[in-house]
Amino acid sequence: MASQEIETLTAALARLPGLGPRSARRAVLWLVKRRESALPQLLEALAQVQETLVECATCGNVDTASPCAICTDPRRDARSLCVVEDVADLWALDRARLFSGRYHVLGGRLSALEGVRPEDLSIPALIARVEAGGIDEVVLAMNATLEGQTTAHYIAERLEAYPVRITQLAHGLPVGGELDYLDEGTLAQALRARRPVG
Ligand SMILES: [Zn+2]
Repeated sequence: MASQEIETLTAALARLPGLGPRSARRAVLWLVKRRESALPQLLEALAQVQETLVECATCGNVDTASPCAICTDPRRDARSLCVVEDVADLWALDRARLFSGRYHVLGGRLSALEGVRPEDLSIPALIARVEAGGIDEVVLAMNATLEGQTTAHYIAERLEAYPVRITQLAHGLPVGGELDYLDEGTLAQALRARRPVG
C-alpha cells in the first residue's frame, strides 16, 4: 500500500493523455528514485510552464506571448491561414516547415455524439478573422476522421460567403505506402483525389 502522497501524484499523472494508472505508477517510482537529480528539473520546468505560457488570443497557439511568435512573424504570409483541430497539429505542421502562413486552432472537432457544437470551438473567431479581410486562402487541415471531415465540411460551408479560396489537405497514399498495406478508407480517399497524369 503506497503512501497518500504517492497515490495523489499517481492519480494526477494518470490523467495525462497517453498515461494510464500503470504507466503513471512507473513514472512516479522513477521520480521517487531520482528525487535529487531529475525531480528539481521537472518542478522547475512545470513552474516555468505555469508562469510563462499563455494561449494566443489570435490563433489559439500556446506560447510565451499573445499574440504568439507565429502571429507576429513578419516573414509569414498573413494571407494564408491554416485551420487545425488542436495545438499539437499546429506544432506538427510547423515542425515540418511546409506551411509558411498563419494558423487557427479550433480547440477540437464537431461531434454530435459528444455534443460539441460550432460555438464550443473557435469557429466564430475563425469566421471573424476571415470577415476582417486580408486572407486569400484558408487551408482546412482537419484529421482524416469522420468528425474531422464533418468539421471541415461545416467550415467550408460557413466560409462560402467570403472571397477566400478554401483548400483541404489531400488524404492519400502515404509516402512509401504500398497499396495492399493501406486500409480501405485511405485507399478510397486516394482514388477519389486522383488527378490527371502529367
Ligand atoms: Zn498566434
